[in-house]
Amino acid sequence: MQLFHNYATELSAISSQVKPFPVTQARVVMRNEALSAELGIGSDELETDALLMALFSESGTLQENSIAQKYGGHQFGQWNPNLGDGRGLLLGEIKAPSGSFWDLHLKGAGPTPYSRHADGRAVLRSTIREYLAGEALHALGIPSSRSLCLLTSKEPVQREQIERGAMMIRTCKSHIRFGHFEYFHHSNQPQQLEALFNYSFKHHFPQCLDSSTPHKEMFQSVVTSTALMIAKWQAYGFNHGVMNTDNMSIHGITFDYGPYAFLDDFIPEYICNRSDHSGRYAFDQQPSIGLWNLNALAHAFTPFMEIEELKSVLMTYEVTLITEYQRLMKQRLGLREHQISDPQLVSEIDLLIGEWMNILKDEKADFHQSFRILSEQLLSIESLDFKSIADNFINADRVRQWCVNYHELQQNLLSLSNSTWVEVQQKMLRVNPKYVLRNHLAQEVIAAAEQDDFSLCEAYLKVLTSPFDEHPDLARFSKPPASQDKGIALSCSS
Ligand code: AMP
Ligand code: MG
Ligand code: MG
Repeated sequence: MQLFHNYATELSAISSQVKPFPVTQARVVMRNEALSAELGIGSDELETDALLMALFSESGTLQENSIAQKYGGHQFGQWNPNLGDGRGLLLGEIKAPSGSFWDLHLKGAGPTPYSRHADGRAVLRSTIREYLAGEALHALGIPSSRSLCLLTSKEPVQREQIERGAMMIRTCKSHIRFGHFEYFHHSNQPQQLEALFNYSFKHHFPQCLDSSTPHKEMFQSVVTSTALMIAKWQAYGFNHGVMNTDNMSIHGITFDYGPYAFLDDFIPEYICNRSDHSGRYAFDQQPSIGLWNLNALAHAFTPFMEIEELKSVLMTYEVTLITEYQRLMKQRLGLREHQISDPQLVSEIDLLIGEWMNILKDEKADFHQSFRILSEQLLSIESLDFKSIADNFINADRVRQWCVNYHELQQNLLSLSNSTWVEVQQKMLRVNPKYVLRNHLAQEVIAAAEQDDFSLCEAYLKVLTSPFDEHPDLARFSKPPASQDKGIALSCSS
């Protein structure tokens, strides 16, 4: 594969050249065929021998101009200027057959000038979690970085206990974070900040250059994409867990996976990060933290924009997020998504969605399974048989009443759109996953992988990448956890 080195050459002053440092007995154990095809990478290039040569030999094509990027970030609300790629390197950019450019980033590549006192390594557990998450979110239509391949090794790496070192190559449009801009602003390096903006316009936001206010256009783009991403997290029950500004992508993609979790039971204030004692990054805090982070980013735009202008762009965040969230919830509940002018109907839809979410919350029902059951049993609502849905809940009467209201509203909506219950059901089954990434299942496949058995991991990936399909032979992956396996919270250590 041919790499470009736009970031490394055009922004050489704000990154450090670092070569990848091999791990002992590295071996490619997972390859993302779908992604490599999209990027025009031949599967032979991801074979162990070829990849190790390309990454680690002196003439290797993937290490010619590898760099560690410098950035800072607000971590749990505190500014930290001392961040950067501490255990990952940007290998370069690859041009896909579609013409678009993608970063190739090697995670677990060894120490860099930004490693501080840490080892620059990644462990098998965390790379598998990142691989699974990227694919699972992508399949749900949630923008994410994605893994191209994963290498295991025999390298011992010290965490809470000794674990196996691993590496992965991940891809996304770029690895430019909110914290990149914040760093050059707060460390008073206006020329570097300007260079970063110019680079971003040229390579990632070229449409902004058509405007007389390119910074405003770019900020608007970041605000909008961030709002849309977080709306999707909320609609699909995803808790990121470490929304520090160094973990926020300027493209509005989910990125820098740590102790994330999809919800099991619907507990809005759920905290997946065991190190997050105050619940700053709890599931229901994510929309407001997104705005907090954009506000932090806005400071880096102040040399180029008036405060009032920045505020007016930030004001669009909430409405974008709520509109997208409501669109997704309507879609998930099979309710007409198109604009409806009748205010009575609009408020009935809102009430129905609100009551559904309240039921899930009050019952601590499984977030994902509840939507799937509703989709699978939809035609029983059509025939006014509410038992098969209501029986899944403790307060069956309340759910039965909800079904009565749903029936009436759906009949109204269907008469407006000339559609049928069967059509609605078909659509619902394409937006309500049967298979969801669950921490207890991730742990199970990781345990097998640590014993060199990646077949379980591949099987889980298969259902996560087509989560709306039935996979009768793998149906056990669709089961919600038993009570002792629910809501597992993990620590930051990875
Ligand atoms: P994260 O928690 O992944 O957002 O990382 C926060 C900071 O710590 C970033 O600057 C990382 O590059 C750095 N970091 C995390 N883990 C390691 C590690 N094992 N070795 C070196 N640096 C690390
Ligand atoms: Mg990070
Ligand atoms: Mg990280």
